[in-house]
Amino acid sequence: MRKLIAGNWKMNGLASSLEEIETLKGLTGGAACDIVVCPPFTLIEKAAQQARGSHIAIGAQDCHTKTSGAFTSDISAAMLCEAGARFVILGHSERRAVYHETNMIVARKATAAQEAGLASIICVGETRAERDEGIALDVVRRQLRGSLPIAAASANTAIAYEPVWAIGTGLVPTIDQIDEVHRSLRQILEQELGQEGRLVRILYGGSVKSSNASSIFDVPDVNGALVGGASLKASDFAEIISAAA
Ligand code: PEP
Repeated sequence: MRKLIAGNWKMNGLASSLEEIETLKGLTGGAACDIVVCPPFTLIEKAAQQARGSHIAIGAQDCHTKTSGAFTSDISAAMLCEAGARFVILGHSERRAVYHETNMIVARKATAAQEAGLASIICVGETRAERDEGIALDVVRRQLRGSLPIAAASANTAIAYEPVWAIGTGLVPTIDQIDEVHRSLRQILEQELGQEGRLVRILYGGSVKSSNASSIFDVPDVNGALVGGASLKASDFAEIISAAA
């Protein structure tokens, strides 16, 4: 399966950061994987113009469930699409924790994204306490089941397994733990989507760096990565991309 490597810039980046996309284009020209950069909303249009005609797609980090309306400060999937985004990250643990996004909200956002023509990267992942309690698999399985949009398919949906305790901490689960969770998520996808569930890409996210990327990509059901900190600098991100290719 062709891997998908997505960079989540979070609330980082001013216009000057667009240079990183220019550099990334040069460094990853022949990459045999799909590459997505998700800058903050303010940079999407410019980033999309810059990436036009290249192998890099631009994504957003959230969208609303509705197409328009009285939702001050929010942004719809159609607006993102018009600005040039092709992907959207949904249900990131920071959104689930800080903005209390539930699985149902994530599923509704994913449906809205799908209707607007955006592919979703839906995040799931357990907290440290949940892993220590031995309920990590139950948690991620429940999140996945509840967060899938109605007509999920490999063309419009990818899943990112991001253990909350591994995000931005430098901590990474063992290869066996990643393998166990990804296999389990694959099972759910097959149960929910049948044959199509085999084709939905499952990304790993949480402190991915050039030094650990290859061993993570060797896990059979790891079909790419969602990268935070190491996606901000084109040279670091390009090294992760080359480990996937
Ligand atoms: C993320 O924010 O989705 C993430 C995985 O961050 P980091 O790579 O910095 O751990």
